[in-house]
Amino acid sequence: MNGDDRQRLLREVEAAGQCSHPIRLRGEAVNLATGEVEPTAFKVACKDRREAVCPACSRRYATDAWIIAATGLNGGKGVDESVAGRPKSFVTLTAPSFGATHRITSRGGCVQRRPGSARCSHGQLSWCGVIHAENDPLLGQALCADCFDFVGAVLWNAHASRLWTLTVQQARRNLASDVGVRREVLHRVVRMHYLKVAEMQRRGLVHFHALIRLDEVETGADVFDLDELAINAAWRRAVKAVAFEDAGTTFRWGTVLNVQGLGAGEQDARMVSTYLAKYVTKTSGDALELARRFDSRRDITLRVDNPHLRRMALCAWDLADDLAPLKLRGHAHTLGFAGQLLTKSRAFSTSFGALRQARIDFNASRRSGDPLEGSFHYDGRGYDDPRASELADTFSRLEAGLTAERVARDSERRLDGQKGLDHDE
Ligand SMILES: [Zn+2]
Ligand SMILES: [Zn+2]
Ligand SMILES: [Zn+2]
Repeated sequence: MNGDDRQRLLREVEAAGQCSHPIRLRGEAVNLATGEVEPTAFKVACKDRREAVCPACSRRYATDAWIIAATGLNGGKGVDESVAGRPKSFVTLTAPSFGATHRITSRGGCVQRRPGSARCSHGQLSWCGVIHAENDPLLGQALCADCFDFVGAVLWNAHASRLWTLTVQQARRNLASDVGVRREVLHRVVRMHYLKVAEMQRRGLVHFHALIRLDEVETGADVFDLDELAINAAWRRAVKAVAFEDAGTTFRWGTVLNVQGLGAGEQDARMVSTYLAKYVTKTSGDALELARRFDSRRDITLRVDNPHLRRMALCAWDLADDLAPLKLRGHAHTLGFAGQLLTKSRAFSTSFGALRQARIDFNASRRSGDPLEGSFHYDGRGYDDPRASELADTFSRLEAGLTAERVARDSERRLDGQKGLDHDE
């Protein structure tokens, strides 16, 4: 590659927002300064958060998620730095069991043999003595696909967001009753804010990791003497108590729950932020096959190799006819889960929008030229030169390497206690 080539590639990648597989647009543009009309083709960043779709945009998204979590814990980027001293907890909520699946427990094993029959009624072993490697394709697969309740699992995913909302409300009520006041009274002095990230487990069930923070609205909240232990207690009880019924099925959380207070230290904030940021770019099963919507039942059978996730997706697709209000067909690729991967109460921290705008402003300040207006249509994905894609990838690696990834290993080690939660116990 000569110097001119390199310059041209750099400009092309830069103009496409450093995306790995930009969206190509074609159409006519009007130069608003001169009135001239000209046919134009250009590329824009896809801004897809999923790693399987676009490594560069997903890395930028993960970095943003990291900043959102970190500023919510320590302040900065418009968030008051006093948040660092507020009581905070880290909560992991899991789905119930819908049948035994291959997994790695905190002790390293899979499904223990229980007294009684060693096989299910379909003749399959009901235990597994294998110590699975981290990349074992068996992980998440049902020990017996006929025993596994696929319908129950898909329906649970479809109701998980509602369960979350009810749990937040219950935790707020618990906190008020613990200090002996009505919820409205407490609300005037103290607010419970959160940031939550959904993680799709290998068994195809969603679970939630959430940061909870208590903010004083007025000084004097310390009359109530609320600390992280108060948050932990309010959440533990809420998670156990909350349940609701829909069309004859009762929905509640699984029995595995992890609630831990977070210190005010920067170390804790970095660690938890990294842990959360890791999940926001993942698709179910980490693969491209579940990264976008399905067109048909056949599309599912052709695209999804993982047999367990394929059954989940097909089940969501088939249930769609009976359960129209849940819009399951459009969420077959998310196995019934219709919620956002990252949600937060508004006051928790800065937003993706704010971070994106800051980046646009920064880029605009480096560019000049007349404003354009036009109508364009989709003309495919990607760069003309495959080397541009590699270059975009390198850029985003450099960018992300300076923030999130640097602390990834450290956080992984320190949060190892969470590992046993990856599968139902
Ligand atoms: Zn992209
Ligand atoms: Zn196993
Ligand atoms: Zn069976």
